[in-house]
Amino acid sequence: MSENEEARRLARAQLPEGLRPETLAVRTALAPSQHGENSEALFLTSAYVQPDAATSAQRFSQSEDFTYSRTSNPTVRSLEARLAAMEGTEAAICTSSGMSAILLLCMGLLKAGDHVICSRSVFGSTINLFAKEFGKFGVETSFVSQTDLQEWRDAIRPTTRLLFAETPTNPLTEVCDIQALADIAHAAGALLVVDNTYSSPALQQPAKMGADVIMHSATKYMDGQGRVMAGALCGPNKLIKDVFGPVVRTAGMVLSPFNAWVVLKGLETLGLRMKAQSEQALAVARWLETRPEVARVYYPSLPSHPQHELAMRQQSGQGGAVLSFELKGDTPEAARAAAFHVIDSTRVLSIATNLGDTKSIITHPATTSHGRLSEAQRQAAGIGQGLIRLSVGLEHVDDITDDLLRGLSTLNHE
Ligand SMILES: *Cc1c(COP(=O)(O)O)cnc(C)c1O
Repeated sequence: MSENEEARRLARAQLPEGLRPETLAVRTALAPSQHGENSEALFLTSAYVQPDAATSAQRFSQSEDFTYSRTSNPTVRSLEARLAAMEGTEAAICTSSGMSAILLLCMGLLKAGDHVICSRSVFGSTINLFAKEFGKFGVETSFVSQTDLQEWRDAIRPTTRLLFAETPTNPLTEVCDIQALADIAHAAGALLVVDNTYSSPALQQPAKMGADVIMHSATKYMDGQGRVMAGALCGPNKLIKDVFGPVVRTAGMVLSPFNAWVVLKGLETLGLRMKAQSEQALAVARWLETRPEVARVYYPSLPSHPQHELAMRQQSGQGGAVLSFELKGDTPEAARAAAFHVIDSTRVLSIATNLGDTKSIITHPATTSHGRLSEAQRQAAGIGQGLIRLSVGLEHVDDITDDLLRGLSTLNHE
C-alpha cells in the first residue's frame, strides 16, 4: 500500500464532528486494517508481535499500543469507542460480564471504611456483591428506597463514596430520578453510578443527567440476540483510563475479543430493536390491562405507572422491552399455580431468565431471580407469587398475546 493510500485510509477513519447517535452506533470503531474490511475485524489473538526489542520495551511502558490482550485488544477497543460515543462519555472500558463491571467499579473506587448507598430494588447479584462480597472487605452499603429521594439524603455519611442506582428496575420497572440523585451525590462529594442495562444508551444517556459512571450488562439489549456475556463502565478519562484501566489490566476481568465483536455488531441495530421492542411491549401491556385475570400491569409507558412522566422524560418516551403483570389469586399458593399455568401453557415464548433478546422470554421472578429471598422479603419488594415478567421480543405481537391467552383463557378450567 502506498503511503498516500495509507494516509487516506486513516483519514477516512476519523469521523466528522456532530454525527447523530444512530450514525455513531454503526460507524464508531478503530481504523480498518490495511485490507480495508467494511465490517470491523475480529482480532482473536492473545499477543502481538513487536518489530524489535526497543519498540517492545516502549510499548510495554505505556498502555496505548497492543502488547497482550489482557492489556488491550483492537476488537475490544472498537467496542469501547462505540459505547462511549453512544453514552456521550469520554471513554468506556469493557469487562467479561455485567457483574464484573460492578466488581471493577468497587475495586477501582472503594477501600475499607468506605460507604455506598444503593437502591433496594437493584439486580439481586448487585445487592449480594455490595452487601456480602465487599462487606467482607470493610465496605458498608445502605439500601434505600428506589423512589424516595429523602431516604438517599438521610443515608449520606462523611465516608459515602458512591450512590448506585438502576432504572427502570427488574421486574417492577420502578424508575428513579437520575438528575436528582446526581445532585444529592455531588453535594456530598460522592459519585453517582447508574446501571443503564434496562434502557441502554438508545433510550437513556445518564451522563447527560449528571451521572458520573454508567454501568452495563451488555449481555442483555446490546448483544440483543442472547449469545454472549459482556459488561462495561462508561465515564470520563480520569476514571476510565486512570482508575479502572490499571485495575482491569492487573485483575484480568477482560472481555473476550469474540464476545466484543458480537456486541459490536449488536450495537448497530440497538436503536431499531429498542424502538420496535418498546412498541410491542406497550401493545402487550395495554392488552394485558384489558384482561380480567390480570390484577395489575407494570410498564413505564402506561399512564397507570407511578413514575410514568419521569420515565418518559428520562427514557426518550419509550418503555423498553420488559414488563410485568400480576395475576389474581386469593392466596400465594393460588397465585403461584395461576402463574405456573400461564407460563407452562406457552408454546412460543421461552421459559428463561434472560431479557432484551429478539426472542420473547417469560419468567416467574418469585422462584427464579428473587427465589433466594424469604417470603417476607419478597412481599416487601412487591414480588408476589402471581407475578410474571415478560421480555418482549420481535415475534409478531399477536403471536405473543395469543401465546399468553392459551394460559389466561383456561385459568379457571383446571
Ligand atoms: C443482568 C444484569 C446484570 C448482571 O449482568 P451479567 O452480564 O449477567 O453479569 C446487572 N444489572 C442488571 C440490571 C442486569 O439485568
